[in-house]
Amino acid sequence: MINVLFAALPERWEQYRETLQAAFTELDLSVDLRTEFAPQDVDYIVYAPNSPVQDFTPYTRCKAVLNLWAGVENVVGNKTLTQPLARMVDPGMTQGMVEYVAGHVMRHHLGMDLHIAGQDGQWRDHVPPLAQDRRVTVLGLGELGLACAKTLSGLGFPVTGWSRRQKTADGITCLAGDDGLRQALTVADILVLLLPKTPATENLLDANRISWMPKGAFVVNPGRGQLIDDDALLDSLNSEHIAHATLDVFRVEPLPVDHPFWAHPQVTVTPHIASETRARTASQVIADNIHRGETGAPLLHLVDRSAGY
Ligand code: NAP
Repeated sequence: MINVLFAALPERWEQYRETLQAAFTELDLSVDLRTEFAPQDVDYIVYAPNSPVQDFTPYTRCKAVLNLWAGVENVVGNKTLTQPLARMVDPGMTQGMVEYVAGHVMRHHLGMDLHIAGQDGQWRDHVPPLAQDRRVTVLGLGELGLACAKTLSGLGFPVTGWSRRQKTADGITCLAGDDGLRQALTVADILVLLLPKTPATENLLDANRISWMPKGAFVVNPGRGQLIDDDALLDSLNSEHIAHATLDVFRVEPLPVDHPFWAHPQVTVTPHIASETRARTASQVIADNIHRGETGAPLLHLVDRSAGY
């Protein structure tokens, strides 16, 4: 019997209990899944960083911690966590993010607001350009960024992507490094941020780098709030260098009611809903990783502790 501790908020337990059991059964894994165990009896921890478990020291026989979230910034620096840490790569979450990004990019590309807000009898006959004439840049070419870049490229946008290590992807101009970032921002008529929060990515989009972007560009940030210098973004919106920012993530969440983003006419706030881990598909990913752990296969989606993601 494999003892799996589910360490997340109680509402997640309601969501995951049955789907996890079903996924374990499908892989013939004999699992005792519970929200409480004596720590020394636990083999794996299914984990959300906002769970009460913050000290991993007593989990002496635990073979791996399997994160339910894609972002690991709140657990990666935990010194008591010496076991392998896997992050969540969930096809359901990827699909959700692709839909969010495609939708918000298309909103800005087509200038939908003009017609949605302007039901006032005025004939605004602005014809949007074709996708081929709108350049999109995606910062971060990981699970989510690459899937979004591919979809946007499929819609006809010329897509440039930027990542830490050089990538190649059909139909996408892939860049890396400092020079690559400058080049990527220079062609960002629409910029999508899908980087993790790490010491190297904090405030990546600052005043200087915003100034490299074309005038009238759009920003879509479902990555992390800390990627952007808020004041620099507000200045660029006020000067209309940036036409509009759609922001899903913030330094403080929920975004405080008095934060200037709420009232700014060129900002759209979405409440960290771009995508989330979907219980059914995520349960299969977790079961697969436990199966791998039990059969000696390498675990998937392991976090690189030194890189922080
Ligand atoms: P991922 O697969 O780890 O990909 C991260 C990408 O960022 C990789 O391409 C990586 O480069 C690049 N990167 C990391 N540090 C960099 C640096 N210093 N310079 C340049 N590129 C860098 O992560 P993911 O699954 O795509 O998720 C991305 C982020 O989305 C998560 O960390 C999370 O913050 C956010 N997210 C948000 C929501 C939401 O609902 N708003 C939902 C899920 C996730 P390499 O390819 O070279 O490693």
